[in-house]
Amino acid sequence: MNIYHGGCSCGDVRYHITKEPIFTQACHCRLCQKQTASAFIVRTMIESSNFHLDSGELIRLHGATGSGRGQEVYRCKNCKVQIYSIFNNSDVMTFIKTATLDEPDRFPPQAHIFTKSKLNWVNLDGITPCFDEFYNKENILSAESLARRQAIGW
Ligand SMILES: [Zn+2]
Ligand SMILES: [Zn+2]
Repeated sequence: MNIYHGGCSCGDVRYHITKEPIFTQACHCRLCQKQTASAFIVRTMIESSNFHLDSGELIRLHGATGSGRGQEVYRCKNCKVQIYSIFNNSDVMTFIKTATLDEPDRFPPQAHIFTKSKLNWVNLDGITPCFDEFYNKENILSAESLARRQAIGW
């Protein structure tokens, strides 16, 4: 079993995941740009049952999303770095902020979404699928990843 570790910038929060991620995607929407104060965010999906907090304390803050439904963003209580989000009020799926993983290079985006608001100096590789807004998951995710989503009702 592969275990991947991650944490915040101050070192208080440490976590690990106990399975390969389901999917990793980059979002270039304006809200993600603002919330990261950067060009885009990268999120890695994992069943919440495979996410384990090892140390530190998390605080939960509500964040806006394009859908209007919002997200619950969990941050280190000390340094406030975003660790993960929960969407649609459903805590079965954890959306880890990929850059908080210790080896983020292992998890490149498998799709770029909301590229209609991508900053014009961001040059994508021309290989990874890009979407003006969102994708149809049946066309993009592997059969295994789709089955894992279905298994938890996501
Ligand atoms: Zn911290
Ligand atoms: Zn976004």
